[in-house]
Amino acid sequence: MVRALVLLVLVAACAPAPGPAPAASAPPAVRAALAPGAPPPAVAPPPVVARAPADAAAADPPAALVGADPLEGEPAASASDDAGAAPARNEPIQGAAPAATALPAWLRAVREPPPVRFVGSGRPGPKRVGLQVGHWGNESLPAELDHLRASGGGAVGGGYTEVQINYDLAQRTAALLRADGVEVDVLPAAVPVDYEADAFVAIHADGDARGALRGYKVARSPMSQIPTWDDALVGWLYAEYGRLTGLPRDDAHVTRRMQFYYAFNNRRYYAAVAPSTPAAIIETGFVTSAADRALLVGDPDRAAAGLAASLRGFLGIEPEP
Ligand SMILES: [Zn+2]
Repeated sequence: MVRALVLLVLVAACAPAPGPAPAASAPPAVRAALAPGAPPPAVAPPPVVARAPADAAAADPPAALVGADPLEGEPAASASDDAGAAPARNEPIQGAAPAATALPAWLRAVREPPPVRFVGSGRPGPKRVGLQVGHWGNESLPAELDHLRASGGGAVGGGYTEVQINYDLAQRTAALLRADGVEVDVLPAAVPVDYEADAFVAIHADGDARGALRGYKVARSPMSQIPTWDDALVGWLYAEYGRLTGLPRDDAHVTRRMQFYYAFNNRRYYAAVAPSTPAAIIETGFVTSAADRALLVGDPDRAAAGLAASLRGFLGIEPEP
């Protein structure tokens, strides 16, 4: 009830926000994705990642790095944003809503997502998992996300584009999970409106203009309505992806763009998971790090095994022998 009141206050305080089109008039790609049994969206897969010889993965990245992941759903924070109502990491927003004028764009509610009546897909089985390929089909994002359409394939490093790596990892992870009887949707950047699944993981890889950073990190929405579940998913990803890849954690660089990632910011965007869907975003490593590319490009099966093991653990599924 308190949460509903806070939401109502937010909605009221933020009028007249330019609301995106409702689902009924969603773009064709989103409507198609919503139809039962619909085929995957008509988004061309990115080029397959070339198998890198061991020494190629260790080559220095090119001088002209695109660097920082342009992702992740929100315009770069301004200094005033930082002084404003940003919640601490992994803490739900509580108490009175901040004044409307202090609300940064990423916190402005423009819709009321469906209430949480169950957690997950709401069906007995099989388990359903959504793996989002970060940046895949950015150019087809709906109007509400037009600020992301031009962000291309994400971070670039060592001759590789992030979206290639994301796509490759998602497909390999999907194959592992399907072998365990899990129903897997490999999703493009445009997530079906109020997408329901037992788990949703947005797969990204990071970029660092200096080429100095490495490691992986995971985040969930600070506004989650099922924080215990989201925390469990984040915990499994941190534990199993780290255990199976050996990559260092890079928690220090979890950004607000990750926390308020559009695909689970369902108070602001329609092309987002339902509030009942446990959701997280993982930056699987740095495209701009030769050491991380040795895993992401040189040994993607290991990275996929880490993602699949995380989801198995979260869903309580034993791997098939
Ligand atoms: Zn990305």
